[in-house]
Amino acid sequence: MTQPLNHQWRLVSRPSGSLQPSDFQWAASPLPEPGEGELLIRVLHLSLDPTNRMWAAADTYLPAVPLGEVMRGVAIGVVHQSRHPGFPEGAHVQGLLGWQEYALSNGAGLTLLPEIPGLPLTAHFGLLGHIGMTAYFGLLDIGRPVAGETLVVSAAAGAVGSLVGQIGKIKGCHVVGIAGSDDKCQWITEELGFDAAINYKSEDVPARLRAHCPSGIDIDFENVGGSILEAVLAQINLRARIVLCGLIAGYNATSPQPGPANFANVLVRRARIEGFIVLDYAPRAMEAIQDLVTWHQQGRLHYRIDEVQGLDQAPNALSRLFTGGNTGKLLVTLNHD
Ligand code: NDP
Repeated sequence: MTQPLNHQWRLVSRPSGSLQPSDFQWAASPLPEPGEGELLIRVLHLSLDPTNRMWAAADTYLPAVPLGEVMRGVAIGVVHQSRHPGFPEGAHVQGLLGWQEYALSNGAGLTLLPEIPGLPLTAHFGLLGHIGMTAYFGLLDIGRPVAGETLVVSAAAGAVGSLVGQIGKIKGCHVVGIAGSDDKCQWITEELGFDAAINYKSEDVPARLRAHCPSGIDIDFENVGGSILEAVLAQINLRARIVLCGLIAGYNATSPQPGPANFANVLVRRARIEGFIVLDYAPRAMEAIQDLVTWHQQGRLHYRIDEVQGLDQAPNALSRLFTGGNTGKLLVTLNHD
């Protein structure tokens, strides 16, 4: 009888510039047996996130993935075998299960996923989970929107940005999104209800911001950094809030990136700039889930899943986050035989 195998992607080199498929190695190890107090999870959906690049490169808010180890990744799975009282077989769970078909766990850091009527499992990536919480707490806790204010969102047709703009509309803001294609701009304005969109690849961003934000910018939900952050900072209002969520324009940089040349505007306009990491909001997850599900059920908050089939595709698919090849939440669905 052949022994069942667990296929995995292992990180074998630290990226210099963009992550390359050759930074990963496709490997197989024997399927582990859960011991007392452990469970074996069959991975169903793997989230691909810009932060995967950080985890592969260096110690940041989490230690770098050790070379030779299974690549770290947030994933959803089903409990396949359990010798843990808190996780019955057949239950759905989410956690750092890694880029592999099966994950052995002692339950630490695992979340049992509730069944939410009308929502597929992947909604825990597209609407809820780390993506939903980033949009929700980043905008509401740090951005503190007030009805009538102007909110600018970068990477606006991505997983986080597309939710942020819609939550901004729910809170009564004038919302302008910045994205990398006409199709993306059309999606966020015509289907998601953003007031305006700017294609930063084909339009003059400072000029379009002036046109679409006639009263200036009160909140910047910053996902990108670089020249986009600089263009926004030039037009912030007194007491503006800059929600520093991500700086994807610099993640593949091979040398330290200069800060915005007009950083002094933060001082002159008495603005507040605050970074955050969604992990810190885990204890408050229920607050976000209740609102996000309600808004979705009311038809006021939509999400899109950009699904790639097969774990073998993960390294290639990840690069789409850095070229703008995804719309909405990029994930890999595993094909178990
Ligand atoms: P997205 O689904 O938004 O995918 C990334 C998008 O960024 C791409 O689709 C692309 O869209 C855009 N992009 C990539 N490179 C550039 C560039 N050089 N200039 C401008 N735009 C670029 O990913 P997420 O929603 O998962 O993440 C969005 C941001 O939020 C990232 O910066 C991420 O690191 C951050 N984040 C932070 C968290 C936190 O806890 N602070 C948690 C989760 C995410 P386009 O076609 O528009 O260029």
